[in-house]
Order: sequence, then C-alpha cells, then structure tokens
Amino acid sequence: MTPQGVAILGSTGSIGTTALRVLDRHRDRFAVRALTAHANAALLHRQVEAWTPTFVALVEGDGEAPAAWLRGAGALVEAATRPDVAVVLNAIVGAAGLDATLAALGAGKRVALANKESLVVGGALVAAAARRGGGAVVPVDSEHSAILQCLSGRDASEVRKLVITTSGGPFREWPAERVRAATVQDALNHPTWSMGRKITVDSATLANKALEVIEAHFLFGLGYDQIEVVVHPQSIIHSMVEFRDGSVLAQLGVPSMELPILYALSHPERIADAGIPVFDAVSAGRLTFEAVRHEAFPCLGLGIAAGKAGGAAPAVFNGANEQAVALFLEGRVTFGAIAEAVEDALARLAGLSGGDLPSLWHADAQARRTVREKFA
Ligand code: NAD
Ligand code: MG
Repeated sequence: MTPQGVAILGSTGSIGTTALRVLDRHRDRFAVRALTAHANAALLHRQVEAWTPTFVALVEGDGEAPAAWLRGAGALVEAATRPDVAVVLNAIVGAAGLDATLAALGAGKRVALANKESLVVGGALVAAAARRGGGAVVPVDSEHSAILQCLSGRDASEVRKLVITTSGGPFREWPAERVRAATVQDALNHPTWSMGRKITVDSATLANKALEVIEAHFLFGLGYDQIEVVVHPQSIIHSMVEFRDGSVLAQLGVPSMELPILYALSHPERIADAGIPVFDAVSAGRLTFEAVRHEAFPCLGLGIAAGKAGGAAPAVFNGANEQAVALFLEGRVTFGAIAEAVEDALARLAGLSGGDLPSLWHADAQARRTVREKFA
C-alpha cells in the first residue's frame, strides 16, 4: 500500500506535535507531505529534518527561515490543496483555520479537524464545501471522536440526544466570585488535559464546551435541544450517545489526544497502535457526574444561545472570545471580563447576517473590535 499523504497545519502546536508522534508509528500508512507553523521556526526546522515534507510554510515570525519555505496565510490554503496530500490535519487555533478547512474540502480532501473554530464560524459553509468538493470532515476533538465512534454509522434519526462530557476545568468547585478573579496561572492549570494556551483558557471558562456543542450540531446534524453537557471530572468517558430506544453508548479511555488523532486518520477503520495509553478500569476507579454550574461559567450558556440564534452569532461569539482570551493572557483584563466581553459583543452585534464568507469575516472583525474598544 502506498502511504497516504498528510498535511499538518499547525505542526508546532500541542495537537500538531502529538500528531507527529502518532504518525511516527505509522510511517507505512501515512507520509507527511506538508508542514505549516505560525511562528516557531526552530521547532519547524527540526520537524522538517525529521520528516522531509515536500511543502513547508511559516506563516509569520522573523526567525531565519530557508528560502524554500512559504510565508503568509495563503500558504495554508496551498498546503491544504496539494495534489500529494489526501488528509489535512487542521491543528491551527482559532478562526484563522477556516479558509484552509474550506479549501481542503473543496479539493476533495479528508479533513481531520482539530480546529473546531472552523465549524463554529462557518459550519454551513464547511458542510457546503464538503458536498461540492467531495471532501469529508472527521473530528479530532475527543468528544466528537467519541460520538462518531458510538454512532458507528447509525443515522441521526435513531439518536435521541448527545451527551458531551467536560472535566469542569480547574474552577469546577470554585465559588463564582472566586472564578471571576482567577489569574492566568490558575486558568492555565488544567486538571486532566495538557493543551495550547487558548483552548486551556476556554476549558476554564467552559467557552470550549460551547464551541463543542456548536461543533456537534454541525458535525452530526442534531438540534441544540438534543445536545446536553455534563460534568465528568475524571475525563474517562469522552462523550455518550442516547439512541431512540433509550440505550446509551459511551466511549472510554485514558485522557490522551493520540487515539482521537489516529482515529481521525484511519476512520472508519481501526488500526493497531502500541503507543496509545492502555485503559485499565480498576485504576480508572470511580467515574462521577455533576450538573454544570452555569452561574459560575456564563460562557457556556452564551455560546449555546449564539448557536441557537444562528446567522453570524456563532462567529461573533468566537471572535469576541478569541479577542477577550488574548487580552486575558496578556494580563490586561480579568478572567471574569471574558464572559462580560462576549455577552456585550453578542448583544451589540445581534442580527448580523452570516450567509457567506465575507459577512462572517465582517462579523468576526466587528466582534474583535467591540471587545478591544470595551477595554481600551
Ligand atoms: P496550540 O496553540 O498548541 O497550537 C496552535 C498551532 O496553530 C501552532 O502550531 C501555531 O503555529 C498555529 N497557528 C496559530 N495561529 C495561527 C495563525 N494565525 N495562522 C496559522 N497558524 C497558526 O493549540 P492546540 O492546543 O494544538 O489547539 C489547536 C486546535 O485544536 C484548536 O482549535 C483547539 O481547540 C483544538 N483542540 C486541541 C486539543 C488539545 O488537546 N490541544 C484538543 C481538542 C481540540
Ligand atoms: Mg474537546
């Protein structure tokens, strides 16, 4: 079997580097053809030496880059549409990943999608691009991988609801007042997952869970009233599906992104992998569940409401959240200000249309500007 060509967009990030570790065990099945990074030239250099891809891009950054490396955001689309690439792993963070997702699907590629923001900002356009170009989206997000595995080809009409689990983040048990005053260091201290900074903050506000509810809506074609969120602090059950006969299937495993990454590459096939952490039920111990404390984590409800509102609201939610999280990480606003900024942007920009790509980018830019001006 000739190996399938893989492009990794965001190869220097948390998902990107984990994916290369997975791919290293499957060099017979997959060949890395394209690597892109945002600004980490030194790590990209080492990856290029190890993988000898045919295409390399460094989107920004002034590290000394070889002349053969492409520059600029257009390089992401180029990487995503190369003829020697069959699978595009989109591991970019933020709305910056959307154009590459659309281009890859339009070119008929399989998109192993970690970049959930693609679906949140442009869910309907992503689905249309896949239909038009013959590409397919396979989720990397562990919850959506779990749901895909539980569904195993069953029709959405047989599903009563999806139950998406969340660890609850580092502030699961904190009083709401204390959550609002949390520091950057507190927020980056996730109990069960090691991830990039933006998604780690999103996991502390639960904005990440809102993004995942919208992601699930578009991936699986279910209404928002059929998607439930439950707190499960151990992160062993990655999500569940309740079918119309009342049967509930769950997917379990040690919290590690290696399995969902591998499954996104191999779906619907399962391939043997000796490197993936082994699950032992006895050492996993007790599995517990709690309701979400919405009063302490308003971003979850705000995001779900934006999903229900539709149009450009999910793009506004995402853009405002990205901007507010960036300001929080720069130490310029409090943790509690993230939810306030998102709520404010959604109220001010309610009713913006989101029918095409230009209007979604307009909504994204307006949302970011609204948040910057609020704290200027
Ligand atoms: P990260 O910050 O560790 O890595 C992000 C990568 O994207 C980097 O390689 C960076 O070079 C690149 N990048 C950032 N901004 C860019 C831009 N403007 N243009 C081009 N490239 C850019 O983030 P991560 O934790 O790996 O997360 C990546 C995506 O995967 C996010 O959408 C996140 O929500 C999703 N995800 C991550 C995890 C996880 O365990 N880390 C789990 C589920 C989903
Ligand atoms: Mg997830």
